[in-house]
Amino acid sequence: GTVGAIGLAGATAQSAQYADKLQVDDLHKCFGTQEVLKGVSLSARAGDVISIIGSSGSGKSTLLRCINLLERPNQGRIRVAGEELKLKMAKDGMLIAVDAQQLQRTRARLAMVFQHFNLWARMTVLENIIEAPIHVLGVPREQAIARARDYLEKVGLRRVEDTYPAHLSGGQQQRVAIARALAMEPEVMLFDEPTSALGPELAGEVLRVMQQLAQEGRTMVIVTHEMAFAREVSNHVIFLYQGRIAEQGDPRQVLVSPQSDRLRQFLSGSL
Ligand code: ADP
Ligand code: MG
Repeated sequence: GTVGAIGLAGATAQSAQYADKLQVDDLHKCFGTQEVLKGVSLSARAGDVISIIGSSGSGKSTLLRCINLLERPNQGRIRVAGEELKLKMAKDGMLIAVDAQQLQRTRARLAMVFQHFNLWARMTVLENIIEAPIHVLGVPREQAIARARDYLEKVGLRRVEDTYPAHLSGGQQQRVAIARALAMEPEVMLFDEPTSALGPELAGEVLRVMQQLAQEGRTMVIVTHEMAFAREVSNHVIFLYQGRIAEQGDPRQVLVSPQSDRLRQFLSGSL
């Protein structure tokens, strides 16, 4: 009836206001009989920096991979920049995108940065960065090149555009991967342990770039083991435990005075 309709409109306006970049509801994912995500929900407003922490195997990578449908969830809803991804249940019990164009659009709005950089080895730095803007977004080549140079500058890299990834340090490769993500002008950037393959010094140069992106107001969801970074840079932290959010909130609260034994144990390094 009318009251219900008004209620719904209100809820929609509210989610558009409060979760305008990313909203994930009740995500479930099974691998065979193992349920790895048991109903995870999260939302990000513009400028939010969300850190996801948890021990190995808790489902952090699976969560990120389900958000951009690199993995197909069994259940859940995903909304990016106010647009809900249309999903249907396939015969295998997992969700599949109804509309391939919408899926591509959604993925283009979510740039992912991986632990192992995943640059294309046979392409130069510049080619790595312009590939998707040209072929996915349809940006004219000259414009893509100009933007790529701006983003390389932003991540503190110059004079490497004709270099192949193998000739760069891990920290430089990861900064190229960040420039490549930025070149998609994404709504939300997803990072999966971007510094855990790096030593402390190279990790530091990547974390400084990420901190700068946070200060620019970019919306980011970051799986990380860097607790100091989570505390100082993110405005929300989620502790994942066996596929569920066990604790979440303001990093200065959650990381400084954890409420559960599990999180206390995790933070003291014994989980
Ligand atoms: P985290 O990133 O927190 O370490 P993952 O999301 O990688 O955790 O993995 C969560 C659980 O799901 C683990 O038990 C892992 O073995 C399992 N898993 C992840 N990917 C697959 C896969 N492709 N096939 C089967 N099991 C998987
Ligand atoms: Mg992982």
